[in-house]
Amino acid sequence: MSKKKYLKKGRMHGQKIKLVRGKTAKRQCSICGSKLAGVPHGATKFGVGKLSKTQKKPSVPFGGILCTVCRATAAEEAAKIISGKKTEEIDLRFRPFVDAILKRL
Ligand SMILES: [Zn+2]
Repeated sequence: MSKKKYLKKGRMHGQKIKLVRGKTAKRQCSICGSKLAGVPHGATKFGVGKLSKTQKKPSVPFGGILCTVCRATAAEEAAKIISGKKTEEIDLRFRPFVDAILKRL
């Protein structure tokens, strides 16, 4: 997060340019890149830090990392591996997440 220049209007002395910290961007899914739901955005970094743990990300596996569709797909692929599918047949983007699921079992 970089500092951005915003024009702030002072009450007494007209306009002044002040350095203000930028706001946090919308977070993206690490596989498909879609916008994540349930994660804070639009606040400053300080404002995000003041939130509680459950307000920062959804309390599901890979919450704040993967979107709902990709999370379901990763779980499906993990189930397929258990029932006999080979690891090499899985999409490379999903492999680290499938491995993490299999480690938890
Ligand atoms: Zn996704």
